[in-house]
Amino acid sequence: MLNNQSELPILRVKNLKKYFHVARGTLHAVDDISFDIKRGGTLGMVGESGCGKSTTGRLLVRLHESDGGSINYGGVEITKAPQKEMKTLRTKMQMIFQDPYSSINPHHTVASIIGEPLKIYKKVRNMQEYEEKVRSLMETVGLADRLYDAYPHELDGGRRQRIGIARALSLEPQFIVCDEPVSALDVSIQAQILNLLMDLQDSLNLTYLFITHDLSVVKHISDEIVVMYLGQIVEKANTDELFKHPIHPYSKALESAIPIPRLNARKERIILKSEVVSPIDPKPGCRFAPRCNYAVAACSESDPILREICPGRFVACHRAEMFV
Ligand code: SF4
Repeated sequence: MLNNQSELPILRVKNLKKYFHVARGTLHAVDDISFDIKRGGTLGMVGESGCGKSTTGRLLVRLHESDGGSINYGGVEITKAPQKEMKTLRTKMQMIFQDPYSSINPHHTVASIIGEPLKIYKKVRNMQEYEEKVRSLMETVGLADRLYDAYPHELDGGRRQRIGIARALSLEPQFIVCDEPVSALDVSIQAQILNLLMDLQDSLNLTYLFITHDLSVVKHISDEIVVMYLGQIVEKANTDELFKHPIHPYSKALESAIPIPRLNARKERIILKSEVVSPIDPKPGCRFAPRCNYAVAACSESDPILREICPGRFVACHRAEMFV
């Protein structure tokens, strides 16, 4: 979570776009989105599968090339950075994936998975330094030293995710994209990994983009949240404000799905209609309209613009004032 050291953005994203050309047309995966992430802070990015959040994460670390817009990281425009500069930047910008098993080589030991980037980027001078560094990273993420020569299939999901985190930390990054890092884990293990990520953030002054489909997961880890729907940001707010009072009808629906952890406590769940607009060559108008209980004819005529409804609160809805 954000401390008081700095409120300056380390990352500024402006009008970012990513389109994929498919047989039926152009899929608007990320469609003109803008946001900042403050140094040492966490931005939660929430939305259903296919809303463009993982594509956004990959654009930020340039695993995908963008089709427009800008990504400024610490003063460097990374969409235009030459490969040599990108190689240096990649040590500062890392990614943790949803399924650690698919992102690591199952035929390698824990030590070799964690230590591989150290060798690739020549961060150690000899085997002794390599071993010491790997064991230190294992300790940092709570992996027992006896697992040094273990294989990933011998470990549970939580420990495998700790390998992914240790590997991401090996190059001493400043910024990490956490792409659904706890979605594949049991609830009790989820809490352990979230706590680990928050502790690491405090001790190493890390900045996170935390991507998830589950709004409840980002409640404690995020300072701010952006809600995405079919490639666009529909709401951007401080975390406490968003949980207290979601404004966009889609944010309201996501919030209503979070169970209240009190006996006999009830709240009305908003069930969304299943009709989802295609992200392939979308027509003008609000993409959420077919599922929205508040839609009127005007909603399908023009795109709602993300605008500041009240200080620090941005919503893309023609009727947002009605919900404030
Ligand atoms: Fe619903 Fe209209 Fe607002 Fe879209 S613009 S969220 S359809 S009220």
